[in-house]
Formats: sequence, structure tokens, C-alpha cells
Amino acid sequence: MPDASAHDSLGDEDLAAYRSVLEELRTELEHREALKREGADIPIGDITYGKQAGKGSGATERFEDVAIHGQVAQQLAAVEQALARIEAGEFGVCPGCNQAIPIDRLNIIPWAATCVSCA
Ligand SMILES: [Zn+2]
Repeated sequence: MPDASAHDSLGDEDLAAYRSVLEELRTELEHREALKREGADIPIGDITYGKQAGKGSGATERFEDVAIHGQVAQQLAAVEQALARIEAGEFGVCPGCNQAIPIDRLNIIPWAATCVSCA
């Protein structure tokens, strides 16, 4: 009997891929946070991560949108929460309806906490 809180379509390899994309995002966001604190003008469009990881290829564009809107701190929190959910074995499961979040959604937004209906 599989754990009810685990995503039924995600194996260890998939989770490792998401973790690696999320960790890259976290590193980049922390870097941007630090630059922002120093008052630096943060250039947009210099992001290269995510492209080498097939699973997270959609995250790059999405992330640039977020960065443009200046929500770096908020984004960083979401990424950290997603990493915590991977550690807890809850990644990819919507807490609202307890259903698996579709892989397509996770590939575009790896830090998505909920399914589209509950978002
Ligand atoms: Zn839901």
C-alpha cells in the first residue's frame, strides 16, 4: 500500500530532478536577494539554469516573469517550501484536495503547492 501522501507518478529519480532544479532556483534567488540588499540594479535575462535539466525547462521563463515583478523574496519562500515537501515525501500532492498535482503543472511550476483547482 503506497503512502497516501506521495505522488503516484513521481519516482525517486523524478524527485531528484525537481530537487536539483529547485536548488538551482534557490541559489539564484538568494544571490538576487543579496544583490537587492546591496542596492544593486539586478539585470533580467541572465538566467541560464533550468535549461540543462529537462524536467525544469519551463521554470526559467516563469521565473523571469516573477523576477521582473520583484517578488524575489516571495519566490524564494515558495522554492524553499517545495524543497521541504520533497524532504517530507509530500512533493506534488495538493494539500487542498489531497490529489496528485499533474506532472505538466509541476514541470512548468516546480514549486507549485496546490493543483490548479485549489490555487
Ligand atoms: Zn487541489
